[in-house]
Amino acid sequence: MPLYEYRCSRCRHTFEILQSLGAGPQGLICPECGGGDLNKQFSTFAASTASSSTGAGASGCAVSGSGSGFT
Ligand SMILES: [Zn+2]
Repeated sequence: MPLYEYRCSRCRHTFEILQSLGAGPQGLICPECGGGDLNKQFSTFAASTASSSTGAGASGCAVSGSGSGFT
């Protein structure tokens, strides 16, 4: 069973959880704030297989709109 990483868009807490392959964030809640708005992050496991199809480097996952929340 693969380990997936999720990030809560409410409190920005990230956590990892074991899920069956292809499972989504349905039914999951953030362990920090209890919010249900979770975004799946791609772990190293997923990134290593996906990098060959995208071809690009590591600039794919930092796009979040405003982009100025990074101290
Ligand atoms: Zn949260």
